[in-house]
Amino acid sequence: MGGLRVDGLSVRYGRSVHALQDVDVDVPGDEVLAVLGGNGAGKSTLLRAVSGTLKLHGGAVTAGTITFDGERIDRADPAVIVRRGVVAVPEGRQVFARMTVEDNLRAGGLGARDAAARTKARARVAELFPVLAERSGQRAGLLSGGEQQMLAIGRALMSDPKLLLLDEPSLGLAPKMVGRIAAIVREIHEQGTSVVLVEQNATMALSVADRAVVLEVGRVALTGSAAELAASDDVARLYLGGHAESEEQAQAEQVAARRHAPRVLSRWSG
Ligand code: ATP
Repeated sequence: MGGLRVDGLSVRYGRSVHALQDVDVDVPGDEVLAVLGGNGAGKSTLLRAVSGTLKLHGGAVTAGTITFDGERIDRADPAVIVRRGVVAVPEGRQVFARMTVEDNLRAGGLGARDAAARTKARARVAELFPVLAERSGQRAGLLSGGEQQMLAIGRALMSDPKLLLLDEPSLGLAPKMVGRIAAIVREIHEQGTSVVLVEQNATMALSVADRAVVLEVGRVALTGSAAELAASDDVARLYLGGHAESEEQAQAEQVAARRHAPRVLSRWSG
């Protein structure tokens, strides 16, 4: 089976922190999956497990499997996972602050399959992020928060991923910039790259996603189409503040509702 498949995944940090327990997540291909949940729910841990970077954080998979395009990746090195086409943008807009924008992108291109893929990816990044072309010779540390987020995403796209893992790209950004990042995620998906979008900003994530899962203390609590979850009382109460907090949120919810035909929401008791 193509795409990402996470089956019965459990992850532990040290001896006692059970960060994920028996988590199942599928991204069969060509979609945006939102992963929602509050602080400490296990969202970043899931992305770390998929990108093979748990060890760097003192974590380990204790049960379950992760496959991508039919191949096991749960024991693979991060570099191997990148070569398979799965690339992560970790939380916190991690750019090389002292390097120029261009050099940051070039560094991302080291993960590309070959020179042709690199050239294609460079053109795609230039088209998606014109502002990065304008700032190409500037040090990345001097960019605004939103521009740094674009650079972090652009750098990941330079290795021409099949699946992009984004960890809270909207964190700390002004509402207008959050809207731009949302539009960019949609465009990346329309260009043929699947996306797993981890977000605390459920409104933004559900406006972009096809499907979503909600994690609660390391377990999948809800799963369904983005429209189902946007309409769910549980999600509204816990993650949308019970009502749209701003005009922008209301618009995002309308977009989500228009984009997805309603289906039955499944509640997982696990
Ligand atoms: P946030 O939105 O706050 O980033 P999250 O949903 O991404 O939260 P995780 O960061 O995956 O949650 O954390 C899941 C659990 O694992 C939490 O209890 C957290 O305290 C714990 N945890 C995360 N990273 C580590 C670590 N490196 N060492 C020990 N425990 C950790």
